[in-house]
Amino acid sequence: MADPARVRVWAEALIRMHLDPRFGAGSWSFDFDHARRRAGLCNYTDRRITVSRHLAARFEDDEIHQILLHEVAHALAGSAAGHGPEWKRVAREIGYVGGRTHDGEIAAELAPWVGRCPAGHEHVRFRRPTRVTSCGECARGFDRAHAITWRKR
Ligand SMILES: [Zn+2]
Ligand SMILES: [Zn+2]
Repeated sequence: MADPARVRVWAEALIRMHLDPRFGAGSWSFDFDHARRRAGLCNYTDRRITVSRHLAARFEDDEIHQILLHEVAHALAGSAAGHGPEWKRVAREIGYVGGRTHDGEIAAELAPWVGRCPAGHEHVRFRRPTRVTSCGECARGFDRAHAITWRKR
């Protein structure tokens, strides 16, 4: 599970790296929000990228990183680009490997790998899981009894 303090550090580093105000992007900031239906949001009016604190707790570091890249690409491409070719090009360039999402959907819904632990907790991955992982909500640290079964959607 991603630690909120670390998520903030990465988000601010990505904003510094990709949305430097010296290059005309204006100053962007990061914050958490309380959304339950979507993971990330790019607010063009306030120049703010937000991530759901609730959902961040369910994702691994790699997933949060992808969600941040998805939103940073929106900030770079501009609101008019939507999820069109310009957004896609920018997103690829900065390292986003996930899918597109429609307005209002959560980026995580586009992650191709979905897993469940025996208790039914859902987990998502943007990349194929390469090793056996167990559910972080059921057990701290690895525990085979809570192993996650993955499928590709
Ligand atoms: Zn999007
Ligand atoms: Zn579980």
